[in-house]
Amino acid sequence: MRKAIVVGSGAGGCMAAKELAAAGLAVTVLEAGRTFKPFAFDMGVFELARLAGLFFDERMISLLFPEMRIDKARGDGSLVHVVGRAVGGTTTLATGNALRYDRYLADLGICLDAEFAVLEREVPQTTDHRANWSPLTERLFDAFVNLGLDPQVTPKFMEDPTRCVACGKCVLGCKFNAKWTADKLIEGVDGVTVKTGVVVESVIIEGRRATGVVVRRGPKREMEAADVVVLAAGGLGTPPILEASGIPAKPTLFVDPVLCVAAPWEGAGLDRQLPMPFVSQQPDYILSPYFDWLSFYFNKGWRAPSGDIVSIMIKMADASVGSYDGRHLVKPLVDSDWETIAHAVDVSYDILEEVGVPRDRTFFGTLNAGHPGGCFPLTEAEAGSLHHAALPQNLHIADASLFPRSMGNPPILTIMALAKRIARNAVQ
Ligand SMILES: Cc1cc2nc3c(=O)[nH]c(=O)nc-3n(C[C@H](O)[C@H](O)[C@H](O)COP(=O)(O)OP(=O)(O)OC[C@H]3O[C@@H](n4cnc5c(N)ncnc54)[C@H](O)[C@@H]3O)c2cc1C
Repeated sequence: MRKAIVVGSGAGGCMAAKELAAAGLAVTVLEAGRTFKPFAFDMGVFELARLAGLFFDERMISLLFPEMRIDKARGDGSLVHVVGRAVGGTTTLATGNALRYDRYLADLGICLDAEFAVLEREVPQTTDHRANWSPLTERLFDAFVNLGLDPQVTPKFMEDPTRCVACGKCVLGCKFNAKWTADKLIEGVDGVTVKTGVVVESVIIEGRRATGVVVRRGPKREMEAADVVVLAAGGLGTPPILEASGIPAKPTLFVDPVLCVAAPWEGAGLDRQLPMPFVSQQPDYILSPYFDWLSFYFNKGWRAPSGDIVSIMIKMADASVGSYDGRHLVKPLVDSDWETIAHAVDVSYDILEEVGVPRDRTFFGTLNAGHPGGCFPLTEAEAGSLHHAALPQNLHIADASLFPRSMGNPPILTIMALAKRIARNAVQ
């Protein structure tokens, strides 16, 4: 039986593993993290620590919650980058937005309609959550409508919507098993074995073929052999593995920066709402109500209690400028990024004014990001194979590293659609 190795157990990795197993390969998923556990500490204790000013660096989160890995960018310095490191990858921390956004892939001639159609049946998604919205969320929705921002109810990945208590803490992992995460794709699937706590360092390339990977398991370094290797370690995870294998990544990293524009609002309760219940698509950015826990704990400007803050999230498509070598994140924002941010901030002020908040009461969140990709961008020439030209024929990438540019949109659905096709191509 042919053997496949899939590196990473996130959206791309689990989808690729599922498809490879369905094609009859013996699949081993190598995952650096462990089985995911939602954040379990008492938030009351954290509130006391926050008020005492004990939280000063976002990287402290990883000490208490190793499933959430934080990097800080060089360059602009303050951009905080978040990824998941556990079985399920970053889907474990996601707010569950199930948006199709493949415009720039379509521009290259890549049509994923068939894959998206299957995903609609394969992955549970719902827009049936409006009954749980608070009066403020409804007011914000109306404000978006009044300003011509065309808000759309967000489809959510939900394993079981009846279990969702709208606790507002999707990004800390769902304690109620309501949110769908990618590991569900391979749960109980014959032919898939997941090995956790295994860090893949490089791919072994002999002649024009990948013959396996070099892994680190604690202090031990070993080799795992395979006939097919699929790298799905994420937009920050895949480039360092390929660099260590002698295949240079392009310095074209994007991350989809996020900035919240917030204001005090007694009894807002956005901290206990489904995050991002609706979305407005704008050129190069999206807007959505979002309570930003990262800013709440680590940004000194967020002084009010969590229940008394109203906040609009800006998530934008950034320029493809940046790199990650496994240790140092370089992600400068360029002039066009700042122009997009300035425009989106103005629109956010308008939304808050529409619900009665004057501009001089607003404050910003911490600039952060969590949608990395773009260091092995596909070209038109690769639209048919979805195989990056720099790679040996039996070595594939199945994550957002392949995106030709930032989508400025939640990418899970699109990554899965790509990974599905790539895994099928890999066995032909
Ligand atoms: C807080 C937050 C909320 C988000 N919400 C949404 C949302 O609602 N909807 C949406 O579409 N997107 C959302 N995103 C983005 C989305 O979750 C990710 O872009 C997407 O899940 C990436 O999938 P992936 O499989 O490519 O990579 P990842 O999910 O990052 O998975 C990569 C896996 O590879 C492992 N790995 C990395 N390096 C190695 C190595 N060397 N060896 C072995 N294993 C390795 C990692 O531990 C990880 O488990 C969110 C992101 C964040 C941070």
